[in-house]
Amino acid sequence: MTHDTTTLAHGRRSLLKKIGAGGTGLALSAAAAAAAPRLPAPSAIDTGSVQNGKVVFPAWRGEADAPSAPTPAPLPPEQRVGYAIVGLGRLALEEILPAFGESGQARPVALVSGSPEKMATVAKQYGIKPESCYSYADFDKLRDNPEVKAVYIVLPNGMHREYVERAAAAGKHVLCEKPLATSSADARAMIAACDRAGVQLMVAYRIHYQPHNRRVRQFVQEKTFGRLVGYTAVNTQTTALNAAEQWRHKKALAGGGSLPDIGLYCLNTARFITGQEPVEVYAHVFSPPGDARYAEVEETVNFSLRFPSGLVVQCLASYGAREDKWQRFELETASIDMPSAYEYQGQRLLIGQRQGDTKGQTELTLPPKNQFAAELDHFAECVTRNRKSDTPGEEGLRDHLLMEAIYRSAATGQPVKMKPA
Ligand code: NDP
Repeated sequence: MTHDTTTLAHGRRSLLKKIGAGGTGLALSAAAAAAAPRLPAPSAIDTGSVQNGKVVFPAWRGEADAPSAPTPAPLPPEQRVGYAIVGLGRLALEEILPAFGESGQARPVALVSGSPEKMATVAKQYGIKPESCYSYADFDKLRDNPEVKAVYIVLPNGMHREYVERAAAAGKHVLCEKPLATSSADARAMIAACDRAGVQLMVAYRIHYQPHNRRVRQFVQEKTFGRLVGYTAVNTQTTALNAAEQWRHKKALAGGGSLPDIGLYCLNTARFITGQEPVEVYAHVFSPPGDARYAEVEETVNFSLRFPSGLVVQCLASYGAREDKWQRFELETASIDMPSAYEYQGQRLLIGQRQGDTKGQTELTLPPKNQFAAELDHFAECVTRNRKSDTPGEEGLRDHLLMEAIYRSAATGQPVKMKPA
């Protein structure tokens, strides 16, 4: 397309006519437009082009600068995978539903909740039809909603098995929040139910889709800085004194305390980053005596994971210390610090190394990416292309077996050897 000053002058005249500008003003403006220098037409480097249905811009920054990310190419809404969101708690409302706005392949099309007023409010906010809002009793009617291709279970852990199995029976693919279940036996049953129904089961391990963690994994597995010699992981946060009634403190709903809730990030991410399976675990569990919040579940767990390479990963998870979520790696030629490693956002990646005759620390700045949107898109793509997710049900089962071994070790005071995965 070319821009012509005559066209611009004509456009300006009709605009002035529309807003009722006087004849003198019009004559002056037309004269000014005619006298204006011709502007150069935009080049292909400015307009970009369309290639295979995607808008593409050529690079214009010098080689010294990092290239910009590809232009987003979201699918038209009607081609995206429709999700039903089950359980409208904090995670669903504060992270998952907003993340659909940054997703290119997924859209929310149905809700399931036990709170009708909350559901009606959320449905209006996200443009979900009233007839696509279901109670838990009506959950099985999702079967008859052709817009729903995938169901995202965001309920307390102790409810995951029932709703994963019901979703599978309704013929829908299932994305389930972590931890997959409250026991390895339930996890196995859920995997079997999805297999029988011919639907996919993915565990929402968002860290697998988070750029900083992916980059560290690449460094470790490609041995960019040599062998990984040490690895420490911490995930702590506090709970209010009156939180004893919250489901996280009830064994039947949570399955355990800090271990399955936040320690799981240390455990699963260690397996993800190293690409290895622990051969032995050793653990200690502690809860302050007499504290009603820890009558059924643990406050603090320290555990170590020994890997076949000889690496031992040291982990701490606790509900008793202020929020702190970090990882540190000791490698032959670098140490890597990752403050906020398991947060929703704000990850950092700091590499300490020798620099010439001195030492220094370099911070890598990676383009921000919403990990929930990345996770929603990954599963949407798996559903559309019929390919297994990077974090299938088996990944959740493996973590349950390890968490059971961690509790066994804490109970016996002995290290527990793991059977090969
Ligand atoms: P919330 O307590 O905030 O919400 C849970 C929701 O589940 C409730 O609001 C309610 O929704 C529904 N619910 C139905 N029955 C019960 C019940 N008996 N007790 C409590 N709630 C019930 O929990 P979260 O959103 O924090 O956690 C939900 C899931 O997400 C858990 O599995 C958790 O481990 C996981 N999670 C994952 C995170 C991640 O980063 N990936 C972070 C936080 C949580 P309604 O009123 O609509 O029925």
